[in-house]
Amino acid sequence: MDRYRFGGLSSAVILAIGLGAQGALAEEVNLYSSRHYDTDVALYERFTEATGIEVNLIEGNEDELIERIKAEDRNSPADVLITVDAGRLWRADQAGILQPVSSAVLEERVPANLRHPEGKWFGLSQRLRGIVYAEDRVEPSEITAYEDLADPKWQGRICIRSSGNVYNQSLVGSMIETLGVEQTEAWAKGLVDNLARPPQGGDTDQIKAVAAGECDVAVVNHYYLVRLIKSENEDDRAVAEKVGIVFPNQDGRGAHANISGAGVVATAPNRENASKFLEYLTTPEAQTYFAQGNNEFPVVDGVKLDPVLEAWGKIKTDEVNAAKLGENNPEAVKLMDRVGWK
Ligand code: FE
Repeated sequence: MDRYRFGGLSSAVILAIGLGAQGALAEEVNLYSSRHYDTDVALYERFTEATGIEVNLIEGNEDELIERIKAEDRNSPADVLITVDAGRLWRADQAGILQPVSSAVLEERVPANLRHPEGKWFGLSQRLRGIVYAEDRVEPSEITAYEDLADPKWQGRICIRSSGNVYNQSLVGSMIETLGVEQTEAWAKGLVDNLARPPQGGDTDQIKAVAAGECDVAVVNHYYLVRLIKSENEDDRAVAEKVGIVFPNQDGRGAHANISGAGVVATAPNRENASKFLEYLTTPEAQTYFAQGNNEFPVVDGVKLDPVLEAWGKIKTDEVNAAKLGENNPEAVKLMDRVGWK
């Protein structure tokens, strides 16, 4: 495990690289990642075995890592930033900490709508924002589109987390892209009017609230439900058994999809290794590990799915470019504020 973390010694080594001592040391790549899954560590080991490039890992919370790279400025050892949500990758790009990567391999393997148009970041796995419902009180046919959440029939029956959360901001951003600001605002107003309780907690808490009868439907990323389904904790599995999940808008634009992704840092001391690492993450083997770490969908076609995801069948996803979710983020935040989405 130690070789994946910066110890006292290795951070001195990294600093030396930052000061321009490239070439004199072993090949390496420095990852700043907000993901922390066992499968990711296995992935890094295989990359080292295949290429001889050592992987140094710094883990941190999403926004902290972006701030850290900004603060480290030209001396940052960071080569690759791995984080979740296109809205956050957009913020990292806005902060000027990513550089464009031109790679035929990445362009071929990662669908165009899941990467930055200039290669500033690439989606590596997909997460879908679904609607969880109480199996004993709701028929899935009653709620087939996000738009339905504004229907007065759901008055006092919906749980959703706060507008401060980037997942909801990106969902609203995707709706702005399709419906425009005015229609999205009317929808958000209707949704807020239908809430069972003021927004609180994370996505798992929304699922638990549905199971507990506090609300009948909730909007959540799919992997939170998968975690409960696969949990070793009996209470978690009991929660999962009380709910079902709908992936909305199957007759239209498809369910809102977001990404976990990565980009090469603007000041990367090991730029070539960073590109190689990103390319490696799009190999079928790496895609399986990367997606499985968080029960997500691979971005590369033909990669085997986790059995729970496989059982859900073919899901149509909204193919709006993930970059639009970021571009629309400031408008989404203002809109949510105007309708009183806490
Ligand atoms: Fe999450």
